[in-house]
Amino acid sequence: MPAYKHIFFDLDRTLWDMDGNSYQTLCELYEQHDLKSKGLNDCNEFICRYKVINDQLWLDYSRDLVSRDVLRKERFTRAFKEFNLTDDELATTFSNDYVSHAPLKNKLMPDTMEVLDYLSGKYELHIITNGFEEVQHVKIEKSNLKKYFKNVITSDLAGFKKPDPRIFDFSLKAAEANLHNSIMIGDSLDADIAGARNYGMAQIYFNPERTSHTEKVTHEISSLKELQNIL
Ligand SMILES: [Mg+2]
Repeated sequence: MPAYKHIFFDLDRTLWDMDGNSYQTLCELYEQHDLKSKGLNDCNEFICRYKVINDQLWLDYSRDLVSRDVLRKERFTRAFKEFNLTDDELATTFSNDYVSHAPLKNKLMPDTMEVLDYLSGKYELHIITNGFEEVQHVKIEKSNLKKYFKNVITSDLAGFKKPDPRIFDFSLKAAEANLHNSIMIGDSLDADIAGARNYGMAQIYFNPERTSHTEKVTHEISSLKELQNIL
C-alpha cells in the first residue's frame, strides 16, 4: 500500500448530497412559484424531467459545449418547455433562486462526517470540484465541511475542469503533494476516476448504486465508511 498523505475528494454526490439537496430546493421553489397553476401538475414529474436535462447540460458544460450562464438558465427553460410552459422571465427568476437557495442546503452523503473525522487525523484532505467558485464555498461552509479541508480547488480557480489533467496538476501543486502520496475519491468515472488515472494518480471510485462498468480503478467503494478499510 503506497504511503498516501493527501486525499483529494470530489464534492457533489461524493460528500454533499446533491440529489437530496437539489430535490428539496426544487420542491420549495415549485411551491413558491406556484408551478402547479402554470401547468406543471406533478412536482416529482417536473424534478425527474429536470434531472435528465440538468445532467445532460452538465455533461455539455464539462466538455465546454455550453457556458455556465446557458447551463444555469437553459435547464429550467427546457424543463418548463416539457410541460408546454414558455416563460423566459420565469426561467430566469427560477434559475437565480435555485442558484442562491440550493447551496444553503446541508444534507451530506451517509457517514460523511464520521469518515472525515477518521481521515482528518491521519491525512491532509482537499477538494477538487467542477462546481462554481461562488457556489461551492457556500455549500462547504453551510454543511460544516470547511474545517476538514486544507485546499478547495474549483474548476473556476484552476481554469480547467476535471477530467483535464491540468486541474489535477494545479491541485497537487496547491497542496504541495505529489503523484505518489495522493489519491482521488469521486463518484464520476469520467471526471474523477479517468481524470485522476490519466494524470497518473491513484483513485477510489465511490459507486453507491453499484453501477457496473469496465473502467480500471485502484479501489472501489459503495459506502464512504469503506474508506476506513483502505486508508
Ligand atoms: Mg461528483
